[in-house]
Amino acid sequence: DARLAGIASSIRVIPDFPKPGIMFQDITTLLLDPKAFRDTIDLFVERYKDQGITVVAGVEARGFIFGPPIALAIGAKFVPLRKPKKLPGEVISEEYSLEYGTDKIEMHVGAVQANDRALVVDDLIATGGTLCAAVKLIERVGAKVVECACVIELPELKGRDKLGDRPVFVLVEAD
Ligand code: 5GP
Repeated sequence: DARLAGIASSIRVIPDFPKPGIMFQDITTLLLDPKAFRDTIDLFVERYKDQGITVVAGVEARGFIFGPPIALAIGAKFVPLRKPKKLPGEVISEEYSLEYGTDKIEMHVGAVQANDRALVVDDLIATGGTLCAAVKLIERVGAKVVECACVIELPELKGRDKLGDRPVFVLVEAD
């Protein structure tokens, strides 16, 4: 698709952020380019509009940028998956491991139902730990994760392997 090159070139790479050796994929420059941002959302909407998806779950923080416009366009509800202690209602939480230590994401009880069909959205898949925790939250309430969608994948980190047979769809591969 001709739109993918424009999307890829709109993503800025910042070396040594947030620490030495990391090549940070910065999607804020994609957001500054209305055509690239529009194309990003359109590509996801074209893929998901006829898949019976009832909920788009966005992972804090950048899943909150890409998830809502997709949800509105396909007529699904939007559910934020948040860092600990941010959601005011009753939550379920999933812990996942980072390079050093662990982190957690939380979802409101009742936001997703057993008969929902979910799309999980984040900006980037690296090791897959974050998406895996997001998928587990949704599956714990009995809902089906149809697919995970990210703008960028770092394929060298083999994050997909962590997700087993749940499909992952990405627009851009970075190295
Ligand atoms: P994982 O859990 O797959 O190792 O890491 C993915 C999570 O970390 C995502 O929520 C993503 O937003 C964040 N992340 C890790 N590296 C980058 C990066 O280079 N750029 C951006 N934008 N996010 C990153």
